[in-house]
Amino acid sequence: MTPANQNIVKDWITAKVPTYHCSLCGANKWSVGDVVMPPLANNNLIAGQPMAVVQCGACGHLDLFDAISIGLKKPYA
Ligand SMILES: [Zn+2]
Repeated sequence: MTPANQNIVKDWITAKVPTYHCSLCGANKWSVGDVVMPPLANNNLIAGQPMAVVQCGACGHLDLFDAISIGLKKPYA
């Protein structure tokens, strides 16, 4: 993910959840990773949303956010 897109995710999270912190360890030390897609199941692609990964810098817990809602990806036609 580009630094500009990482900033879009950071700004979105900060606006939507100003008190965002890790749901497991409670740390407020997180970083934005890549956009990922749902995995293959039975050799068929699952139709689903692309997801932005946010990682806790303390315990490694991952949160996923809908990249379409954030504005990183366009909805499927
Ligand atoms: Zn954590």
